[in-house]
Amino acid sequence: MAAVLLSVNQLSKSYGARKAVDGVSFQVQQGQTVGLIGPNGAGKSTTVSMICGLLRSDSGSVLLNGAPVTQGASAAKRLIGYVPQDLALYDDLSSLENLKLFGALYGLKGAQLKQRCEQVLALVNLSDRAGDNPSTFSGGMKRRLNIAAALLHEPQLLILDEPTVGVDPQSRNAIFDTLEALQAQGCALIYTSHYMEEVERLADHLVIIDHGKVLADETPAALYQRLPAQAALQVELATAAGAELVAALSALDGVRSVQASGQQLSIALADAAQAAPVLVWLAGQGLTLLHFATAKTSLENIFLNLTGRSLRD
Ligand code: ADP
Repeated sequence: MAAVLLSVNQLSKSYGARKAVDGVSFQVQQGQTVGLIGPNGAGKSTTVSMICGLLRSDSGSVLLNGAPVTQGASAAKRLIGYVPQDLALYDDLSSLENLKLFGALYGLKGAQLKQRCEQVLALVNLSDRAGDNPSTFSGGMKRRLNIAAALLHEPQLLILDEPTVGVDPQSRNAIFDTLEALQAQGCALIYTSHYMEEVERLADHLVIIDHGKVLADETPAALYQRLPAQAALQVELATAAGAELVAALSALDGVRSVQASGQQLSIALADAAQAAPVLVWLAGQGLTLLHFATAKTSLENIFLNLTGRSLRD
């Protein structure tokens, strides 16, 4: 098993009377990608700001390779790259000049600075725009330049706060490509989002938070196991489904719930493998099936399942 890179222990922070983060604990292994998921206001930004040492916690600790990250601990902080939600680029400087400025702040200079700027521009696929000002960029390109700036000092852990907000789908894919390249290089990632599906694509582990508390800290596969229904079977019959049919269907092995609306049946299944026996059973009742389709239940439902609320209410 990989060594623990980051250990967040019982972190808490209040703004006045409001408890924004309330005893959050989780770990990130070396090279691991952790998705920090929760609705707006859950405490994600406050948590990552404390991890980076940008915000002082009220209590709890953050250890990076076993050493505490505090506001003054520059050695530990050098292991972290942070991509904030608010873009911090200078519009009257070119992309390359922006990067040189950020690199200088990390103490890089000369040939090393030049080489790192070229490497990170290539990684975010902006080499051909090195001479252009960010004011000419789309939201997604600006975000990629911000990611590049956070990588100049070769951090072991890159923290991205909602990196796809305000980004078009094409640029979002470009961001994912960059993050996948970083994963391949062994860089650990923390990625905050209120979109479960995009984090699911990248993350080895998901930490779900709400009202400043951790509700779940598991692999996506383990979270799927916690869903009462892992798949849905949609069936269109030639005739309307009656109450008797719905009752008999509901009693079948692996069927969690059945909703009928005219000829349409929506059947929640404990497991996708149950779709075939259910279809065989329907056909065995002498029914004509006009159309059917199965779909894996979205992991978005896990939040609903844990809190009774949707992730994006
Ligand atoms: P998220 O990133 O999950 O959207 P935040 O960490 O930004 O959540 O916010 C958590 C809670 O703390 C929210 O209720 C938010 O309104 C509050 N909050 C965040 N920053 C501040 C601040 N600077 N002053 C007062 N309240 C804040």
